[in-house]
Amino acid sequence: MALAHTLGFPRIGRDRELKKALEAYWLGTLDEAGLRAVGRQLRAAHWQLQKDAGIELLPVGDFAWYDQVLGHSLAFGVIPARFRPHGGRPGLDTLFAMARGVSGNMRSKNTCCGGAHAQEMTKWFDSNYHYLVPEFTAEQQFALSWEQLFEEVAEGHALGHRLKPVLIGPLTYLWLGKAKGSEFDRLDLLERLLPVYGEILQRLAAQGVEWVQIDEPILALDLPQDWKNAFERAYNILQREPGKKLIATYFAGLEDNLGLAAGLPVDGLHIDLVRAPEQFPAILDRLPAYKVLSLGVVDGRNVWRTDLARALEVLQQAHERLGERLWLAPSCSLLHCPVDLGREDQLDAELKSWLAFAVQKCEEVAVLAAALNQPQDARVQAALAASRAVQAGRAQSSRIHKPAVQARLAAVRPADSRRQAPFAQRSERQRACLQLPALPTTTIGSFPQTAAIRQARQAFKAGKLSPAEYSEAMHGEIRHAVSVQERLGLDVLVHGEAERNDMVEYFAEQLDGYLLTRFGWVQSYGSRCVKPAVIYGDLSRPQAMTVAWSRYAQSLTGKPMKGMLTGPVTLLMWSFPRDDISREQQARQLALALRDEVVELEAAGIRIIQIDEAAFREGLPLRKANWQAYLGWATEAFRLAACGVRDETQIHTHMCYSEFNEVIESIAALDADVITLEASRSDMQLLDAFERFDYPNEIGPGLYDIHSPRVPDSAEMLALLRKAAARIPVERLWVNPDCGLKTRAWAETEAALVNMLAAARQLRGELA
Ligand code: GLN
Ligand code: ZN
Repeated sequence: MALAHTLGFPRIGRDRELKKALEAYWLGTLDEAGLRAVGRQLRAAHWQLQKDAGIELLPVGDFAWYDQVLGHSLAFGVIPARFRPHGGRPGLDTLFAMARGVSGNMRSKNTCCGGAHAQEMTKWFDSNYHYLVPEFTAEQQFALSWEQLFEEVAEGHALGHRLKPVLIGPLTYLWLGKAKGSEFDRLDLLERLLPVYGEILQRLAAQGVEWVQIDEPILALDLPQDWKNAFERAYNILQREPGKKLIATYFAGLEDNLGLAAGLPVDGLHIDLVRAPEQFPAILDRLPAYKVLSLGVVDGRNVWRTDLARALEVLQQAHERLGERLWLAPSCSLLHCPVDLGREDQLDAELKSWLAFAVQKCEEVAVLAAALNQPQDARVQAALAASRAVQAGRAQSSRIHKPAVQARLAAVRPADSRRQAPFAQRSERQRACLQLPALPTTTIGSFPQTAAIRQARQAFKAGKLSPAEYSEAMHGEIRHAVSVQERLGLDVLVHGEAERNDMVEYFAEQLDGYLLTRFGWVQSYGSRCVKPAVIYGDLSRPQAMTVAWSRYAQSLTGKPMKGMLTGPVTLLMWSFPRDDISREQQARQLALALRDEVVELEAAGIRIIQIDEAAFREGLPLRKANWQAYLGWATEAFRLAACGVRDETQIHTHMCYSEFNEVIESIAALDADVITLEASRSDMQLLDAFERFDYPNEIGPGLYDIHSPRVPDSAEMLALLRKAAARIPVERLWVNPDCGLKTRAWAETEAALVNMLAAARQLRGELA
């Protein structure tokens, strides 16, 4: 019998119960017992949901109070000195201090060191989930320090469940961490770490656990040879520990690591056939005869219903070879999916019939297992028929396939993604027409999203404000933002983005081909969730999306007003994309829709247009071999969006990170007239990349960190500006903050901008 299992389930709750409980606990309105009770209820509910769906082996250890990597750091005693509890064991407050930092004046009961900054957070592989980066020192010791997993196993057993604990494997855990203090090789810590895994495996076995899932997703990355070797070493040692071990890989193909992964001395291997279908049937020839093979055939990273017939073709082949050594699962943990489609009460029936969230994906896995085990079963037959009907409907639906969009794409010519004149000529025309001073000053787009703005938006959505009233409220915000900017003396103004809830959702709501869910929340980090929009069909722009706001803002000032758009790559990366056409095609469709907006902004008298590409770099594929292809189409999409304008119109782009070395050529190839970047947190280190590579166009490296309420003084910003001026010719240098100001309050925003402008004036004076 093929076995149905899952690698992990969303922990946040279908009504974001965990988010709400965490935030109440941090506020002090819920006590620890109350918080723990919510966690217990969620685990019980999620096990039951999966079991009811037909999952036979349930994950445990996929629940985390904040982040599963942080949970492992506590389990192994990887607690940076600044958080180490004064005597005694780490508690929940230690965990939250590591996740969120401790402000200087707020000494929480259980933790030490007020003022300790949080651990660094970064993206979990190529997903939009963020984990807390373990901090290792050269003297790092590991000791089992956290009982959560064992308690949860006991809890699930008491409920009568058959459980499979989920651990992050030792190599992936070390890979995800960072060496702090002196330089050393993280791999040197492996021998010290393995005994803790041994201890965990023994304790789990003593609790009656049969299978343990050990996640080693780094097996799907380009690994240095010493890391490959370490895999064999580590699992040769761990094989002596009790319990059957399933190594789980996901998010990409094993490729050169296929033989290594298949041969490790463990009892099973999970591979992701959604992201890397070509791994089958190759894997069959590499898998030792004793091993379980778990095939991830249901997409854990997206919201589409599975084509069951297509999945079954592969599974039947595998089943013939493997029999009961075949397991079925989603491709990866369902952490990356919304919880339950059943919750969506306002989606139209046809769109809804195309979708599957975590609960529905469990049902799909179970149906596929049943289709192998009892193919004649009536429920199986009905499910297969329903799946066929959905796939046929999607393939033909006129809501998805729009001849006009496709015809337009087919008619795109190479010249459409090139500006008319090269940058050198364009920039002269722009200079003549914009009349900006040296070191022009600007901001990145958003101004504080105040409570009043959020209330107005909610009242409008709820029908309590008429469109005219809402528009007047937003005009009031725009007037305020413009008057502040004029008073401070900025050179290029923005309207402030008061009307935008979110830089993707705002456009998704207005583009044809996008759907929005009401409850499709996915954990981003800690208690933070995002509700990605879903691209379901060919994309087009029925009408202008931002032009009226920008035109109004421009009417208030003689200074240039920057139009503000989210770029095609970022719209795509922060949405659930279609699975029936390539991401490249979707990016091109988005680009054409944005191109019309850009051209219409220009026609409305907007002389500078910024196209944000915050997600450009994070779209990079996990394997280097695929980078060039991605960078090629991503760059092309940006240019297609940007290049419909006259030479006099200045195109800006903005990116929110500072590691550019590897993609600097592609960023130059975007050919934006001006790029603004994050730089202050890395002390302008990002400009090193610009030293090796002669970036041709204008640059605004952010002078202060908008993520913090701290207001740096003008001397500090001047020092950064001087560093920038040493690397970038001043004729091409802009002065701006790191990113948009929506998360800040007005007082600190004004104070910081005053200092930023003073720094610009000072340097201008010296240049004159
Ligand atoms: N224009 C956006 C803003 O200012 C840019 C934000 C981003 O790139 N993350 O909010
Ligand atoms: Zn940014």
